Amino acid sequence: MVDIKTVGIIGAGQMGTGIAHVVALGGYDVLLHDVSQERLQQGLSVIEKNMTRQVSRGVIEPAAMEAAMKRIKPAGELQAVGGTDLAIEAATENEETKKTIFKALSPHLGPDTLLASNTSSISITRLASATDRPGKFIGLHFMNPAPVMKLVEIIRGIATDADTYETAVQFAQSLGKTTSNAEDFPAFIVNRILVPMINEAIYTLYEGVGTVDAIDTAMRLGANHPMGPLELGDFIGLDTVLSIMNVLYEGLADSKYRPCPLLVKYVEAGWLGRKSGRGFYDYRGDKPVPTR
Ligand code: NAD
Repeated sequence: MVDIKTVGIIGAGQMGTGIAHVVALGGYDVLLHDVSQERLQQGLSVIEKNMTRQVSRGVIEPAAMEAAMKRIKPAGELQAVGGTDLAIEAATENEETKKTIFKALSPHLGPDTLLASNTSSISITRLASATDRPGKFIGLHFMNPAPVMKLVEIIRGIATDADTYETAVQFAQSLGKTTSNAEDFPAFIVNRILVPMINEAIYTLYEGVGTVDAIDTAMRLGANHPMGPLELGDFIGLDTVLSIMNVLYEGLADSKYRPCPLLVKYVEAGWLGRKSGRGFYDYRGDKPVPTR
């Protein structure tokens, strides 16, 4: 089995920064890359801010934060990530984007480097086929926010080796996570169940059954969910929610997965949720205000 010491992370958005955070605290050296230098710099500040919050709440020691921050290095070029023991792709939820990354990365990989994707829904087998090493490719699906959420869903592609799988499970466990195995079908387990519920909440809004506030209050207090489904959609990112619905719709060829037209409209408007400042709530003021 590969002894993992260095981890490359591609994509420094919500998930890439969260994964870098948890992996660095786990004692691994991290190289963080993003196609946008601005996102990369923002990502590093987000990690620092989030770790500072954990220190102030007594979740981690100041010395652990200092050591972890030193372990995270920005990588301006994708190629640099090729020299790590494990490269985790956490770029935008778009199959072509991800395949382009893996194709560009393949010639720069060390012979034993393992590859993983944090995709929420896209076929691991198809992504693996864009690389030179489908046997060393696996789905490592961290939840958002990665430093807090306990689960990592592990998805084997059709060609994933047993060694790759064992290494991935041990790696996730070394970060203090619990793993759950999912077969390689569209959106795996968590998002096969969760995202159609969010889409249904958007239909409920679209058809005028309830307002944003009524729907989220109903599900928080009526189903004991910690967050309402619209709030959760904003938290995930509505572009990601739409991509996952499209993967389910196309991959399972069942009309019950059709994305709600209102979700499409929000994404077209660039109202992607928290990360863009506005979604089903407007986050630009002191507290979130429903947009419908
Ligand atoms: P995000 O929009 O916050 O970040 C995506 C990042 O990828 C951006 O910084 C973007 O600049 C970067 N990127 C785009 N193309 C790139 C390229 N060619 N090379 C390098 N970087 C590139 O999205 P996110 O929420 O962090 O999602 C990332 C991945 O994690 C997606 O596959 C998503 O499905 C998955 N995921 C998301 C959640 C969630 O709740 N948001 C949870 C689990 C998994």
